[in-house]
Amino acid sequence: MKDTNFTIKVSDFLTGSALEDNIQLFDKFSTSLPQLHDWISCDVCIKNWDEKTVFLEISNISYSLDNTCDVCSAKYIQHWDVSDIFLKCYANYNKELLREDELSFDGKHGKIDLEDTLTQEITLTQELKKMCSICGDKKQIKTDQTLEWNSIKRIIQQ
Ligand SMILES: [Zn+2]
Repeated sequence: MKDTNFTIKVSDFLTGSALEDNIQLFDKFSTSLPQLHDWISCDVCIKNWDEKTVFLEISNISYSLDNTCDVCSAKYIQHWDVSDIFLKCYANYNKELLREDELSFDGKHGKIDLEDTLTQEITLTQELKKMCSICGDKKQIKTDQTLEWNSIKRIIQQ
């Protein structure tokens, strides 16, 4: 069965009975990334700030996607490293006042849903042009040759 629950419980942090904790999200599936091949796992470090705020540090984000190469149409599995995410999370905060690295959550239940944060970050990390490793290598060689040719031209022009 697909585990689509990206929720972490932070109520103990709001009451001050927990100060720091490390949890792991393991093999989570999201319908907003239907091309997920290996589902999403990550480590989350939760830190207490005050009765309305917690800090989250999300690291070791792992996943892979089923992609189709834009150049040769080959199917391949893509993985790009996603950099660590730092989030300041406020209970019942006005969403319009939030900045990029801030999140509002339901303070009554003390739960933070990380699905949107993670899927958006993965989507942003994906390349605009999808290329398998063979086509990617060819493009790299071409780019190298162009660079070399440009420097030869420059020498001739001098
Ligand atoms: Zn290709």
